Amino acid sequence: MLKTTNCGELRLADAGKTVRIAGWVHRRRDHGGLIFIDLRDSSGIVQLVINPENSQAHAAAHRARIEWVLQVEGVVSPRDPATVNPNMATGEVEVAPSSVTVLNEALTPPFYINEPADVDEQLRLKYRYLDLRRPEVAEVIKLRHEVVWYIRQFLVARGFYEIETPTLIKSTPEGARDFLVPSRMKPGHFFALPQSPQILKQLLMVAGFEKYFQIARCYRDEDTRANRVAEHTQLDLEMSFVEEADIMGLIEELYAGIATQFGRGAIQSTPFPRLDYRECMARYGIDRPDLRYGLEFVDIAEPLRASGFQVFVTALQGGGEIKAIRVPGKADMTRREIDELTEIARGGGAKGLAYIGFMPAELRSPIAKFLNPDEIAAIKSLAGAQDGDMVFIVADQPETVARSLFGVRDYLGDRLGLKDPAVLSFAWVTGFPLLEWRPEEERWDATHNPFSGFVEADRPKLDTDPGKVIARQYDLVLNGSEVGGGSIRLNTRTDQEKVLGLMGYTPEEMQDRFGVVLDALEYGAPPEGGVGMGIDRLIMSLIGSENIRDVIAFPKASSGSDPLMGAPSPVDTAQLDELGLVLKPDPART
Ligand code: ASP
Repeated sequence: MLKTTNCGELRLADAGKTVRIAGWVHRRRDHGGLIFIDLRDSSGIVQLVINPENSQAHAAAHRARIEWVLQVEGVVSPRDPATVNPNMATGEVEVAPSSVTVLNEALTPPFYINEPADVDEQLRLKYRYLDLRRPEVAEVIKLRHEVVWYIRQFLVARGFYEIETPTLIKSTPEGARDFLVPSRMKPGHFFALPQSPQILKQLLMVAGFEKYFQIARCYRDEDTRANRVAEHTQLDLEMSFVEEADIMGLIEELYAGIATQFGRGAIQSTPFPRLDYRECMARYGIDRPDLRYGLEFVDIAEPLRASGFQVFVTALQGGGEIKAIRVPGKADMTRREIDELTEIARGGGAKGLAYIGFMPAELRSPIAKFLNPDEIAAIKSLAGAQDGDMVFIVADQPETVARSLFGVRDYLGDRLGLKDPAVLSFAWVTGFPLLEWRPEEERWDATHNPFSGFVEADRPKLDTDPGKVIARQYDLVLNGSEVGGGSIRLNTRTDQEKVLGLMGYTPEEMQDRFGVVLDALEYGAPPEGGVGMGIDRLIMSLIGSENIRDVIAFPKASSGSDPLMGAPSPVDTAQLDELGLVLKPDPART
């Protein structure tokens, strides 16, 4: 080895030892006489003090620049008490080199590595190998490694097999577009990259493994939205002979362990609360609510049915609803804040955002004049408002109310500082509909994936009212993000065909696209279920980051492209010829 020990591991107990270390020049102060260098390797940083009396070491240190690679032999010595640095793990010692060797020189990096700086993301990603040298950036990647290692140990200790599944396969739908890979051997034919290992893990259960997991890469060609990436990693897991509670219990134990060991914050409550999908939509307007704070929706329609306020009555007569959010102590919110909230509500489709500020002596409300005192008292009481509180109201179709008030609640959560980064608020959401109607395509579609099972009591509704059939699906939510989900699967050919039939597949299409599952289900498929848990999002929550690129070593840019490798990129004609492909000119892009 070119080194005998790591920079970051040196402590007072090592004083007097001769060590050989190697790393990068993190910082350098050359005062003509003594030269100080902070030498950095993967383990941390240690200070070198190079004395002019040692001419070889001093000449090399004098020549060295930021990010040069050095090898140093020297003696560990205690620092002078006045120069001890309590902020550094190695702050009680320094190394006095007897020799310094330049192993490699370096160009001046395009941004600072030795101090946190606000660097343009494109530039960071283009030079990601330098960005990853920044200790605070590397720290997250190391944390990710530790979390994955924890997951592996946890599952292996419980009898799981880690099994790899191929990535050149046929479509495994999860509601996104496939990434396709053309076949050279069979021109005109394509592999699809897996949107998840769903079909393969089900086959592993038919094969009899009973407990499978994989840290799996999944590819989903979606229009890039914040925190959606073309490829993500998930803990993919499947078990035989289980019910919902078994999988949920296992994941809960795993996640509680991870949060305790690696999280910055404390778990809000265990066991994780379980919410019904409809209840979620009614109280939070979304199926992945942030439960770190209240501001829940309250239905205030009843006392307003016969109101003289036309806006409310018209909404109710058109099948709509009226819901409110109470904001404690905020009756005196600024005009500007109210305007911002109104814009947000409009963004969700609402025509406006009504409000009543219950100021101690008067009402602050443009709509109060249309309501009688009983109606105002009823709103106050249903919303649970007290003097000093503000109540926001939206009257519209249920989806619009949900979207608009969700926006208002979310904004208030940020604005009022209610999203405590030190709290990890997990919850399971269950009771999702199995299918949703796609009016443009005139067919049903799976709300999650086409293999999810349904609640047995709802079986007759598959023929009479498919939209009311409840799936055996469970999603895990953390601080307002979905961090994973799964289901107990359909496990007979008849049921699987029934659901695919509702989704509009003809028997031929079913056999072509899902034949492998349908056939396998006929060879003694065990009852089974599983989950896919997003690793990227989990790490983001653990470090309190909102940016998925913080937790991936080599992420794509937000545009979906890769500035580091320069991908995607054109290929040459010879390659296209081999694949039997001809590019069609795209007039919109040329
Ligand atoms: N296949 C699902 C997904 O990737 C997870 C699961 O149901 O196990 O989201």
